[in-house]
Amino acid sequence: MSKTSIIEKIINSPVAGKAGVPQGYPLRRWKAGEPALDGGVMLGGEGRIADFLGRALAGDYDILAPGDRAALLFDATSLTTPDRLRELYDFFHPHMRSLRPNARIVVVGTTPESLHDTQARITARALEGFVRSLAKELRKGATANLVWVDPDAVGEVEATVRFFLSAKSAFVDGQVVRVSARPTDGATSPTDWARPAAGRLAVVTGAARGIGATIAEVLARDGAQVICVDVPAASEHLSATANRVGGTALALDVTDPAAAQTLARHARERYSRNLDVIVHNAGITRDKLLANMKEEQWEQVLAVNLLAPVRITESLIDAGALAEGAAVIGVSSMAGISGNRGQTNYATTKAGIIGLVDALCAPLADLDSTINAVAPGFIETAMTDAMPTLPREVGRRVNSLQQGGLPVDVAETVAFFASRSAAAVTGNTVRVCGQNILGA
Ligand code: NAD
Repeated sequence: MSKTSIIEKIINSPVAGKAGVPQGYPLRRWKAGEPALDGGVMLGGEGRIADFLGRALAGDYDILAPGDRAALLFDATSLTTPDRLRELYDFFHPHMRSLRPNARIVVVGTTPESLHDTQARITARALEGFVRSLAKELRKGATANLVWVDPDAVGEVEATVRFFLSAKSAFVDGQVVRVSARPTDGATSPTDWARPAAGRLAVVTGAARGIGATIAEVLARDGAQVICVDVPAASEHLSATANRVGGTALALDVTDPAAAQTLARHARERYSRNLDVIVHNAGITRDKLLANMKEEQWEQVLAVNLLAPVRITESLIDAGALAEGAAVIGVSSMAGISGNRGQTNYATTKAGIIGLVDALCAPLADLDSTINAVAPGFIETAMTDAMPTLPREVGRRVNSLQQGGLPVDVAETVAFFASRSAAAVTGNTVRVCGQNILGA
């Protein structure tokens, strides 16, 4: 088949909307003031988590609404032998044909590495295969995700379950989030789940446009004060973002060796405090096959996407410029997980961001702080608009939701990590990719 006819076939495929823009099934995204879910949560399983969540969610969710299955939430922590995995079948099978569009499936299990009993560990690990496969079977915008909880972190699971149950996780599918026991005690649940970042001071780099501008908007919606950072050349757009979110604009190249000091000074002078949240969103691409790549194309991408986030994070920690309970968030990419032809430089940096999360997880936990990353898949932005037609149309479709995500999908996941209620969520890289088949 010729290249043109493949493109035509894809563009005219059933998931394509007007003018070749694929629409998949319309995903429901959260709007302030709307309920988190259209319908009730059916709760299954017998562990301590089911008990805890039943009580914790009851105020906001219709638990056990018969015949109104917007969400199925299963506590698998009491499944301690492989033969009991049958309970997954028993709970889910009867409901598979009666789920509402945009339904949510959430399974909660015990983190396998925390289990010393062989049978229990095997059983906990098996949940991942179940959830990832179920996510691939769901239709009409429904998603399935898994939460692994440390045995002594039962009380910390609520924020993650709320995120996966809600429309905020519309493009997060087939993912696993680990909830750890926190080194220190303390109330982490915000009183107002509609403004979970209230009182937090956040920095977003690359905030002049694209995903970064949307992250700034969502953090402000959630109650944070936002310092918007971008290169001096983007000042006009940067000021527009800052004005929109009621924050401040700071023209700063993140590769400036003194960037961390400038950020800390801005926080002190303008807000009289340390930073609660830093989102390393600024990023560039200089795609070329390695054989054709110029030295500066390698250097520039490494400098902006990896060396700057590493230096800024380490300098802020060393200078004591992060507040207690801070959240550091990296923006990785699916390319950093699966690799991508023509992106050796970019994928190196995006895999490096996952390394940053792994490496700084323990030292930040000692400061009662977290570090996580989002790894976007195909997101509808100026960057992906500019792609050649064939890879663009394929890129949009090769995921379980059969469409591209929106910047707000990345922003909602960042905002989940940024909230103090996610203080037990650290060391995770969550893909915002609709369960893209690449690198899965
Ligand atoms: P974008 O190009 O629209 O925005 C990036 C912003 O970063 C720009 O405003 C730019 O001026 C700023 N920036 C670049 N270099 C900077 C520097 N040295 N200092 C300060 N700011 C700088 O890109 P986007 O699509 O919004 O992507 C945002 C992030 O998401 C990037 O890290 C990108 O790698 C990642 N990502 C995007 C996609 C996607 O589909 N768009 C997929 C995976 C990952």
